[in-house]
Amino acid sequence: MSQQRVLIIGAGQAGGQLALQLRQKGFTGTISLLGEEASAPYERPALSKGVLTGTQTTEDLLLRPAATYPEQDITLHLNTRAEQIDLKTRQVHTDTGQTLEFDILVFATGATPRQLPLPGRDLPGVHLLRTDTDALAIKHRLQNATAVAIIGAGFIGMEVAASARRLGIATHVLEAGPRIMARSLPAFLADRITELHESQGNVIHCNAALKGFKGNHQVTAVEFEDGSELKVDAVIVGIGVTPNTQLAEAAGLPCDNGILTDARGQTSIPNVYAIGDCAASYLPRYGRQQRLESYQNANLQAENVVANILGNHSEYNPVPWIWSDQYHWQIQTLGFPAAAEHWLQRGSLESDRKEIHLGFSNNKLSAVVSIAEGTAAAADVKVLQRLMEMEAQPDPDQLCNPDVKLKVLLKQVKK
Ligand code: FAD
Ligand code: NAP
Repeated sequence: MSQQRVLIIGAGQAGGQLALQLRQKGFTGTISLLGEEASAPYERPALSKGVLTGTQTTEDLLLRPAATYPEQDITLHLNTRAEQIDLKTRQVHTDTGQTLEFDILVFATGATPRQLPLPGRDLPGVHLLRTDTDALAIKHRLQNATAVAIIGAGFIGMEVAASARRLGIATHVLEAGPRIMARSLPAFLADRITELHESQGNVIHCNAALKGFKGNHQVTAVEFEDGSELKVDAVIVGIGVTPNTQLAEAAGLPCDNGILTDARGQTSIPNVYAIGDCAASYLPRYGRQQRLESYQNANLQAENVVANILGNHSEYNPVPWIWSDQYHWQIQTLGFPAAAEHWLQRGSLESDRKEIHLGFSNNKLSAVVSIAEGTAAAADVKVLQRLMEMEAQPDPDQLCNPDVKLKVLLKQVKK
């Protein structure tokens, strides 16, 4: 074990965490981390929030300073793309002409933003958002903008809209579907978030049928199918991502909207793993293979594979958790809220600074959505996550009563 060679493809959040934790937990073999971006591994959440509003710099987002990697005897190859993998000879070929050998291979290749197939998408001023470079370009563009169009009302769309409003810019969110955040929220909560955004002056257009973007040297307007136009000086497109599975597929690994792995994070080939946005891992709690796109997932899957590489059997079995900061509100979700069968509410934003929506399926607490001023709901969400992990069935009346402390309910369940 001690002389094994671990090679990680993708130096993002998941890949970076895996390399650092593996060394921290005592792995003495070689660790190579291959990333096509120029920056050392960093966390992306602030790219749509603090980096755009100017409260955070891209340097603040680094997992560790770049100097940590050589100090930890981790070989970090930046600006280097893995181009081909031979699983038989256990070699990876890069676009810089190197051939790297491995005993253990980890895919941590993340995901790529979907492009909008419309005329004018290559005009200056039309942006995608995935990397630190993208965020800095958008920040620069917003400095002189008075009106922006944001295409897609998912997480990126709603967060960028909130950041742009904070900068005093007129924002128009253009969503193709009938409501915002359809992948992550049930309709009544999408309406609630719409209401909060509209109270901050954000204009949301659902069922938007776009024709293209106009402009000579840079984008000046969005054109709609009905012939109308919206004048803007920037467009940010956030219409979802596709997992980076091409390399794995070419190497012969089974993929289906993600590189398929078992709960240990291992693919169909021993000692070949996949983690983070690119992986569709088996989730025992839900009994299915599922790709998750979140900060929590990148960290926990890295931790899980570290344990398995070190020979400590570990299975990834999370209650999925996501947070999203929009204006001064923090939204958190647990589980898969769009799938819950019925909902109850605990507290209200207006009277308690937080409201917690509790989703049930088969009479079990299966999902949570909190909307709070700042982190006012953070402690409650942690307790609810614990209850969900335990598959507890707490009394719904008590759950909904803000006078009953959630910690007390947790203690009762533990007895
Ligand atoms: P990434 O961080 O994307 O890293 C993958 C890396 O692999 C990239 O650097 C890529 O260039 C590299 N790579 C790909 N192919 C190759 C190759 N062939 N050779 C070499 N390198 C390669 N989640 C939350 O839970 N909360 C949030 O508030 C939140 N906010 C977000 C805001 C933004 C703007 C974005 C984009 C994401 C946000 N997320 C958030 C999601 C979270 O950041 C991702 O789920 C997480 O980054 C996934 O980590 P990853 O390592 O799998 O992928
Ligand atoms: P997303 O959350 O999947 O949302 C994409 C949205 O765009 C969906 O509402 C989608 O609707 C809509 N859409 C798709 N095609 C469209 C079109 N042609 N015109 C207009 N709207 C269209 O993805 P994202 O917001 O782009 O975020 C990208 C990645 O970053 C995801 O992995 C996301 O999880 C991550 N991220 C996470 C956070 C967070 O967790 N707080 C914050 C930012 C980013 P349909 O669902 O109907 O297709």
